[in-house]
Amino acid sequence: MDADSLPSGVGLATRSGKPAVDAVVVGAGFGGMYSIHKLTGLGLNVLGIEAGHDVGGTWYWNRYPGARCDVESMEYSYSFDEDLQQEWEWTERYARQPEILSYASHVADRFDLRDQILFNTRVASARFDESDDLWVVRTDSGTEVISQYLILATGMLSSANKPSFEGMDSFKGDIYHTGQWPQDGVDFAGKRVGVIGTGSSGIQSIPVIASEAQHLTVFQRTPNYSVPAKNRPLDPEEIAEIKAIYPEFRAANRQQSSGFGSLRPRGEVGALEVDAEVRTAEYERRWNVGGFDFLRGYVDLMINSESNQTAADFARAKIAEIVSDPETAKLLSPTQLIGCKRLCVDTDYFQTYNRSNVDLVDISERPLAFAKDGLVVGEDLTELDCVVLATGFDAMTGSISKIEIAGRGGVTMNDKWSAGPVNYLGLTIAGFPNLFTITGPGSPSVLTNMIVAIEQHVEWIADAVATQAAEGYKTLEATEVAESRWVNHVNSIADATLFPSCNSWYVGANVPGKPRVFMPLIGFPDYAAECDRVAQAGYEGFIRS
Ligand code: FAD
Ligand code: NAP
Repeated sequence: MDADSLPSGVGLATRSGKPAVDAVVVGAGFGGMYSIHKLTGLGLNVLGIEAGHDVGGTWYWNRYPGARCDVESMEYSYSFDEDLQQEWEWTERYARQPEILSYASHVADRFDLRDQILFNTRVASARFDESDDLWVVRTDSGTEVISQYLILATGMLSSANKPSFEGMDSFKGDIYHTGQWPQDGVDFAGKRVGVIGTGSSGIQSIPVIASEAQHLTVFQRTPNYSVPAKNRPLDPEEIAEIKAIYPEFRAANRQQSSGFGSLRPRGEVGALEVDAEVRTAEYERRWNVGGFDFLRGYVDLMINSESNQTAADFARAKIAEIVSDPETAKLLSPTQLIGCKRLCVDTDYFQTYNRSNVDLVDISERPLAFAKDGLVVGEDLTELDCVVLATGFDAMTGSISKIEIAGRGGVTMNDKWSAGPVNYLGLTIAGFPNLFTITGPGSPSVLTNMIVAIEQHVEWIADAVATQAAEGYKTLEATEVAESRWVNHVNSIADATLFPSCNSWYVGANVPGKPRVFMPLIGFPDYAAECDRVAQAGYEGFIRS
């Protein structure tokens, strides 16, 4: 890369003959976009590098039918700019993928972000050069850029998990992954379609594919819990009511463990402290409200398995009520605790199995393989024209591990994280100075409304960078002691809950060979307070030089 081939909004500077910037931000989803905006606002020269051809991240890649947010749109949006949040109009309670992508595009236009982003470019490696305390970032085309700061906004759910099923190469039809959906869409009309996977992506896409395809066969390894979204158009009056209190509403959401839902009361007692009748009525009420509210009725649902079972029983009874064929209903009924795998939110998911053009195939005990004409389970061939892999992501560490990152002494991130991710505050890694991860493992990340988590991270990083400059420091680096204390802290909180008990992607169980570690940190407000305390204490747990 020549300095003059940088995007037009990046200032021209060179170092050792290579282009040099103050910060490289990898990824142009909501994390990368806000990082670029915020750091540029500090007067830094910032270069964004994005593998896709435009902004949006998750919402750029996940264009599968039915893709939509399951945090409400008035909450799943940036809060950092009052004019932006007042002017943007969401149309539905839960925004569809195209609407969220338009919002990302609007933000990019509004803050002139595209001028600073190199699109269609993947960061392949990054090496910390100890001779001058700078990062040397290399792209997939082999060009290099030098930077003081390296921000990995590469996404927690951005590295597609594509299992290698036997015979996959022999299949004559097309294979699509939900997280790498063709830009021009897919026409399922008249097709026999197979979907593998019944997590959130499968559960959102299955009803829509069923309504378009000639026939749909769903291949399920583990049934999942799903609550109805109860999606609907937004009423202009309710939009106006929230906009009238937007700053207070956002602040209240930041005090919620999930980063949303402050207008809806949480339960204040344990599930077993009330009579069964009261409990069932409360579950019914929350089921009808729709969305994640269902799991907010009682304070101990994620810490007491007996309490959890009451909610799980209710959700299973709903499946039995909705699905007409008792055998199919049984197959769709999860046996694990509810909520320890990410709860799904759907529109007519279970109802879809009552359609005459939909079949469910259990693959929990018989291996699945591809054949020339379809998918084979045991001896049975299902003839298919195309297959959708709704098989999820190498979550939280996948996109970071695909970049060869070498810190002090040439130690690589992949070696350092070989037994699972370790870091301090979920933001920084000992031995990797001036490198920050956005919503990384060890932070609340995927357990919260992620835009809330992103804003908190970006603002903390920007404050740290500004403080460095003001106080004359060049590098900020976590100590190993602080890092190891943090890892213990994250684990001890997780171990006091039911979360680690399931084979979820939170623990890496969906990717064969991945170390089993509960990766996110539970509890957003306490976490944010600790980040602030660390900064106010003069960056406790960091070495500054
Ligand atoms: P991403 O949006 O994933 O962006 C990361 C970007 O980095 C990508 O564009 C990728 O191309 C780029 N990148 C990665 N590696 C490289 C590299 N080496 N070089 C260059 N570029 C690279 N969260 C919620 O809070 N609520 C929801 O309802 C919700 N729904 C979701 C639905 C789906 C289908 C998925 C997959 C996730 C959902 N999430 C949801 C999580 C979602 O990922 C976050 O809300 C948010 O969009 C993440 O933004 P990000 O910028 O951190 O990461
Ligand atoms: P996921 O939750 O990991 O689900 C993947 C599905 O594929 C599971 O049913 C899994 O079965 C199955 N699978 C994986 N490997 C398989 C294999 N080798 N053989 C057979 N089946 C296999 O992935 P996802 O649905 O893409 O969702 C990931 C996360 O993205 C969500 O949890 C959520 O955070 C986010 N998301 C959110 C929304 C939203 O509603 N807004 C939508 C989509 C995604 P097992 O359970 O047996 O592993």
